[in-house]
Amino acid sequence: MSARIVILGGGTGGTLTANRLRRSLASADASITVVDADDRHVYQPGLLFVPFGLADAADIVRPRSRQFHDGIEYHQSGVDHVDVGADEVHLLDGSVLDYDVLVVASGSRLVPDETEGLTGPGWMERVFTFYDLPGATALAGALAKFEGGRLVVNVVDLPIKCPVAPLEFCFLADWYFQERKIRDRVTISYVTPLDGAFTKPTAAHALRGMLDERGVELVTEFNTGAVDGSVGRLVAYDEREIDFDLAVVIPVHSGAAFVGASPGLGDELDFVDTDEHTLQSKVKPNVFAIGDAASLPISKAGSVTHFEGETLVENIQRYLRGEPLDRSYDGHANCFIETGFHKAMLIDFNYDQEPVGGRFPGRVGLPLLKESRLNHLGKLMFQWFYWHALLPGRDIPGITPDMPRAGKDLSARVGS
Ligand SMILES: Cc1cc2nc3c(=O)[nH]c(=O)nc-3n(C[C@H](O)[C@H](O)[C@H](O)COP(=O)(O)OP(=O)(O)OC[C@H]3O[C@@H](n4cnc5c(N)ncnc54)[C@H](O)[C@@H]3O)c2cc1C
Repeated sequence: MSARIVILGGGTGGTLTANRLRRSLASADASITVVDADDRHVYQPGLLFVPFGLADAADIVRPRSRQFHDGIEYHQSGVDHVDVGADEVHLLDGSVLDYDVLVVASGSRLVPDETEGLTGPGWMERVFTFYDLPGATALAGALAKFEGGRLVVNVVDLPIKCPVAPLEFCFLADWYFQERKIRDRVTISYVTPLDGAFTKPTAAHALRGMLDERGVELVTEFNTGAVDGSVGRLVAYDEREIDFDLAVVIPVHSGAAFVGASPGLGDELDFVDTDEHTLQSKVKPNVFAIGDAASLPISKAGSVTHFEGETLVENIQRYLRGEPLDRSYDGHANCFIETGFHKAMLIDFNYDQEPVGGRFPGRVGLPLLKESRLNHLGKLMFQWFYWHALLPGRDIPGITPDMPRAGKDLSARVGS
């Protein structure tokens, strides 16, 4: 009997899962259907570059339907809800898809309306986000017109996608205003709910030093309760206030709305409760999750989604054969951090190992936790790998799903 595999979301995780599965499973053994609401696949790491005029929409958007191998059915519609008990997906176009295996790959969603005033007066005029394409594009216009004053980059709450992207924005803003020769007229403040620049101590220490070097003010433990775009002010729950001339806000994230509308599928933030080593959901054995949609104790990042893919695809096949699941996903994550002036830093970590110095992926390789031009080239080249290797489900030479330990300086201490 042919198994019916339905994948909800055709972004990073849904696409690579479908393509990897199609290479592993004959069409006679399984049908693969991917559902997504639109036909625009955005290379999201490219959103960072749009506000600074270093990329535009044409560079980072491709037709979603063209990213799938032959033998994968692409169904363009929003998902309304999943009936987990009946193994059915109900779509907004009225169709119902029955499945034997469901993969939730619907990512995370920006919910700016959760913050009082954020989408009120001033939204898209002096208050922006670069976390989606309309926001990043509008922000490019506002930055080009900005002649001086206080720029505030504010993370409202965690989790967010790519937690280092707001820091990268600060580094690039420092570079951008220097290029425009108005840096002395701009104050840049990074305002975060965390107690440091990042969650992991060694990386937080390094990133804090980099903010200091660039004269970027770090404001910690600031839990934004309201944004007043008419006067230009962030207000915290503890009543602290920060004035701004231009605000770049990373709104609260949640899982896809349909997850919340599907009884039993999601947690309180509409993410899917998922086993951190197998990617099988805790909801029902035939439901799996990948990428941002899964509630795992690791960053929401494309690299994480990529590394999860191999274990997930293996486990869907094991599930169909009735075999015990592979528990090998170790939380591997890595990220190039653009630091301005054609340099970038690389971090590599997993559930147990925080980012440390050394080299990646082995003793000879890219420098970790250190700015270099090589890392900047790596960041730029990654876009090519994304479209040509990662999404099609090909292996990237030298990059394994498990976090490599060789090359890492595991004796490093914070501040050393
Ligand atoms: C500014 C920015 C910079 C980033 N930089 C990096 C980086 O440098 N490195 C890195 O590793 N990661 C980075 N990321 C994060 C990375 O892009 C995401 O973590 C990754 O895309 C997650 O993949 P996903 O498949 O889970 O979700 P997505 O790729 O977001 O795909 C989810 C899909 O589900 C679809 N969907 C959602 N709801 C529905 C519905 N109801 N009906 C139908 N379809 C639906 C969406 O349309 C979307 O196509 C960045 C993200 C941002 C925003």
